[in-house]
Amino acid sequence: MVKKMTASKICSKCGEEKPVEAFSINNRRTDGLEGFCRLCRKETRKEWVPSNPEKLKELGAKWRAENQGKIKAGQERLKAEKREATAAKRVKRDAERAERSEEIAREKRERRSKYKKANREKINEAVRR
Ligand SMILES: [Zn+2]
Repeated sequence: MVKKMTASKICSKCGEEKPVEAFSINNRRTDGLEGFCRLCRKETRKEWVPSNPEKLKELGAKWRAENQGKIKAGQERLKAEKREATAAKRVKRDAERAERSEEIAREKRERRSKYKKANREKINEAVRR
């Protein structure tokens, strides 16, 4: 028998059966999903936040204290990404600059050879003299 995949879940707040996509992921729960659907969570939060500013601040501070490593890692990653982006930009700019200077050199060569071709007589005369 094929085990049926749980593609839906009943929200413990509104009691509606909703597709699993309607639930946020929560790895601390046995099924890996929040008990409330996203909509109910949003609603609960909307109700809860204004009445609990102190608690929210406390939770934020607690989270930050417990996740210093995570925060630091995130900052480091951002910094590294920025560094990489800057380096990539520099490489691109250098390449563009090199291409441009090559183009200028090529134009100069062309102009010179064109001039030589157009003024062969004059040049030869000057050499002869
Ligand atoms: Zn719900």
